[in-house]
Amino acid sequence: MNKIIDSHCHLNFPQFKGKLNEIIKRASDNGIYRMLTISTKLSEISDIEAISNSYSEVYNSVGVHPHECMNYKDLSLEDLIKHTKSSKCIGIGESGLDFYYENSPKELQIKLFRIHIEAARKSSLPLIVHTRNADNETIQVLEDEMKKGVFKGLIHCFSTSKELANRAINMGFYISLSGIITFNKSNELRDIIKDLPLNKLLVETDAPYLAPEPYRGKCNEPSYVLHTAKILAELKNKNLTTIAETTTENFNKLFNL
Ligand SMILES: [Zn+2]
Ligand SMILES: [Zn+2]
Repeated sequence: MNKIIDSHCHLNFPQFKGKLNEIIKRASDNGIYRMLTISTKLSEISDIEAISNSYSEVYNSVGVHPHECMNYKDLSLEDLIKHTKSSKCIGIGESGLDFYYENSPKELQIKLFRIHIEAARKSSLPLIVHTRNADNETIQVLEDEMKKGVFKGLIHCFSTSKELANRAINMGFYISLSGIITFNKSNELRDIIKDLPLNKLLVETDAPYLAPEPYRGKCNEPSYVLHTAKILAELKNKNLTTIAETTTENFNKLFNL
């Protein structure tokens, strides 16, 4: 069986309440041998840590989603760093800029984004970047911060421009692909992915959101990452085993596992 990793899911979300055992078993049964459950706000971090401490295959991050910035106006570097000490914490985020919903003012999103970058630098953990309708600003902040001192990271749920992908890769970043690449309308995105280097790609579900075809619209779960990997295999003219092995290697390298 292929071994594969879901680089981004939200296992603490209410959709999974009371179902986590079966969902993680179904993931294992399908070869998903590691999952990274992502923090979106600090108020959920103890739930997230409880999950990653209960399941050997689950790791976690710490961070504040751009949607949540208004609730964490005074976020400090130390607020993030203290949670990186937990044994299963391997990443900072998700953090970044979401100017599509713009639930928080742009300036505040940028301020918190920079604090997360500082935490990534200080902890040497990769930064998990969420970006929507903010390509230019995201790249600007990342490139500007990179000049002050290096840090590692990835663009999660990549669904925008070739320019963003290439500039992120030039900085040493990885690109994580979600179920969006399986959607009918995603021709342009699939064309971009054909040209991206396989040794920089990861796969994710972003579960419970963004279920890939043929489950589009339903509740997503880590085992479905295989459907995204299959489409990536087609785009790269490789078999599923190669895609599973390479994306797994990429993940383990980035997250130092
Ligand atoms: Zn996100
Ligand atoms: Zn997410």
